[in-house]
Amino acid sequence: MAKEAGYWPYYKTVESASTPRLTIEGHDCINFGSNNYLSLSYHPRVVEAARDATSYFGSGVTGSRLLNGTLTLHCQLEEELADFYGREAALVFSTGYVANMSAIAAFLTRHDYAIADKEIHNSLLTGVRLAGATMKRFRHNDVGHLERALATAPAEAAKGVIVDGVYSMGGDTAPLDEMVELCRRFPNTFLLDDEAHGLGVLGSRGRGAAEQYGVLDGVDLITITFSKTFGSCGGALIGSADAIELLKLTSDLLIFTASNTPGSVAAALEALRILRDEPERVVHLHENVALFLGLLAERGVPTNPAESAIVTIPLKRPDEVSTVLVALDLLEQGVFVNPVIPPAVTTEVGLIRLSLMADHSPELLEEATETLFKVLGDHDQLPDRP
Ligand code: PMP
Repeated sequence: MAKEAGYWPYYKTVESASTPRLTIEGHDCINFGSNNYLSLSYHPRVVEAARDATSYFGSGVTGSRLLNGTLTLHCQLEEELADFYGREAALVFSTGYVANMSAIAAFLTRHDYAIADKEIHNSLLTGVRLAGATMKRFRHNDVGHLERALATAPAEAAKGVIVDGVYSMGGDTAPLDEMVELCRRFPNTFLLDDEAHGLGVLGSRGRGAAEQYGVLDGVDLITITFSKTFGSCGGALIGSADAIELLKLTSDLLIFTASNTPGSVAAALEALRILRDEPERVVHLHENVALFLGLLAERGVPTNPAESAIVTIPLKRPDEVSTVLVALDLLEQGVFVNPVIPPAVTTEVGLIRLSLMADHSPELLEEATETLFKVLGDHDQLPDRP
């Protein structure tokens, strides 16, 4: 029905690399729809690393980590990730989705409790379903509500508190300092922090929201993806040596699926090294966010407070169809954004989501601001003037 009515925004075909300007189905547009925060997916060093690894190891590993799919590259990446995070160990998975599912399914059983923020990523919810644990949801970022959920779960049961360091749709952060403190007060409780959108974006070394809140050592399990800042494909769990060992021995999601291609692991490893050696890239990304927010404010385009590299614009009429129509018109006019509608979110509807990149130039941000102002105005989506 949506297709027939002309408001189907999904599965658009991208015809270029994920650069600040990209081509989608013949439209040349400014790219705010990827998560290529540090512009590394096309960085010459990252591309070269992927090419070299493919030439040396071949295009695929043709097997799972357990048998023939653990290359020296996987081990190297795990070692450097663990070192970057100051943890004992890391484990690389085929995707971030699988890393999240696997982490939850390994540490919670059907006798246990998953205590999850209302806005956590779909992969974490799927992990809870796979674990068979009892699910308790707390209101988004509401630490008081989380405390009540923890207090009502049986003391002897394992309790996994599950949050996104940075929420993928709203771009806001979890109050991890308070959450770490709270989790310490309850027995048998661990905190899992998904830093998919925090890696390369927050913290003085780009390690994510937990680093920014000063509690990197306080979160028990950290998951990341290579599909955003690292410009590749894959994911990882970072934690204690025991936790990783348990997963290596028990995780169906590691043992029974093919491991990452050599090219994707090498790309992620090179991206990690660039992030580690050039933390100023993160600073530059934030300069772009600040510049863009300023330009939008000057034009009277409202934004929610931006805590990451995700900028969201609330619409005056935030119903699903109007949101999608704005996004489609923006694409038509040369600005690629993501419409935020359920089921990607439960509480906030009707947002236009823009991911900033380190390589967005001031000129592109100015051009995008003008187009946003025009299209939002055409759709009567700007706030009424007082
Ligand atoms: N967690 C969050 C918060 C995400 O946004 C995503 C991807 N959209 C994932 C996990 C899954 O990562 P991947 O793309 O590597 O499967």
